[in-house]
Amino acid sequence: MSASLFLRTALLFFLLSLTSCQWISESWQAFDTSLRLDPLEDDAVSSPEETLYPNASEVPPPPETVRTAGAVNRSARVAVLGYHDFSNEDESKNDMVLPAHMLRAQMERIRSAGLPVISMSQFLAWRAGQGSLPPFSILITIDDGWKATHDIALPIFREYDVPFTVFLYTDYIESGDRSLSHDEIRNILDSKGTIGSHSISHQNLSQRKDKSEAAYLTWLNGEFTDSLSLLQSEFASSGEVSPTFAYPFGIYNDFAIEAAKAAGYQACFTVNAEKVSWSSDSQRLGRYIIQGTNGANFDDALAFGQTLPSQLPAPVETKPVSNNKLGSSVLSPSPHSKIVDRLPLISADLSSYENIVPDSIKMQVSGVGEVGCSFAPNTSLVTYQVLQPLRREHTQVRLQFQQGASAKKEALLWTFSLDRMAIYEQKTLETGSAD
Ligand SMILES: [Zn+2]
Repeated sequence: MSASLFLRTALLFFLLSLTSCQWISESWQAFDTSLRLDPLEDDAVSSPEETLYPNASEVPPPPETVRTAGAVNRSARVAVLGYHDFSNEDESKNDMVLPAHMLRAQMERIRSAGLPVISMSQFLAWRAGQGSLPPFSILITIDDGWKATHDIALPIFREYDVPFTVFLYTDYIESGDRSLSHDEIRNILDSKGTIGSHSISHQNLSQRKDKSEAAYLTWLNGEFTDSLSLLQSEFASSGEVSPTFAYPFGIYNDFAIEAAKAAGYQACFTVNAEKVSWSSDSQRLGRYIIQGTNGANFDDALAFGQTLPSQLPAPVETKPVSNNKLGSSVLSPSPHSKIVDRLPLISADLSSYENIVPDSIKMQVSGVGEVGCSFAPNTSLVTYQVLQPLRREHTQVRLQFQQGASAKKEALLWTFSLDRMAIYEQKTLETGSAD
């Protein structure tokens, strides 16, 4: 090889490597963004790295400069609150109507807990990797477009100087005495309020009914696209119309998620009571629906630390169920299961233990306290029928007993959870009430 050919070849390789490095860097950027926004599509995304590096261990780490990493707090968590209607009554009989005094007390608690209330635009900037958030924060949302959002909630939000987002379903706007008028919506936009979409018709978006698939998809796309464009054309000149969506009844399916993406929504909210984290799916963001009859969901929303109730006494000789000779099948509801019935029968089959002293049996249920359980000596079954509907997301049961008068005490501890999504859907579909 002549010297000049060698030099030219070396130069060619050098140039090629420069070009491909730049390309890798850009594709990482693109890949990282798509990974971030659509985690479920990981498999569908054919990243350039897969072809460049068939062996996964050779894939280079993403360059540090790809995201505004220094400005974004990836460990931040947000509790999204979902309100509906409000009243001036002392007490509410409807979970979807919150008395004004409860709303004020909740704003007071957020303030005294030192939890910042963020705006939707701060939230979206964080989700997009363009802004940071404090470790824990609150995002306030209100669904449907009830007049009381303007007449009752707005003055309280002004008093506490907090931003909030109203998800409107466009068919309801100025449709009757109880719905927001266009002018009231403009007032809201003038007072730290943002609006997003809650569809056009507030129907269950997963129900195709008698439509053909094509007709269903056309209808579904309209619910997402037309509702947002209507809000934009009507209100964008008065304030912030945010590309965000709250699923009616919290219900969605894969078609709805695709339609939401196609319509350009940056954040879609469910009614799953869970915090939003950096890794949460943008089309399935959790939200705590705040009920008018009790504050349990609000309590859960504000709990950013230990989720298990702390009022249970320190366990005595407590054995984790998995290490115990009891199989989990003898405990009901099963450890770590999700249940729909708020009034479950709690039971434990202790037949693998001998000489149980009936008087030594004590059961404690978190949120309830010590309960009067019954023990059947012939079957060794301990049972307790929950009498008041469970309100907390997680319920912990502690069952203590003694084998023989001189033996040490044993204690079993297990936790199960309410499947709030299922309960909520069941309830809203049965009563037909708007969520
Ligand atoms: Zn609704």
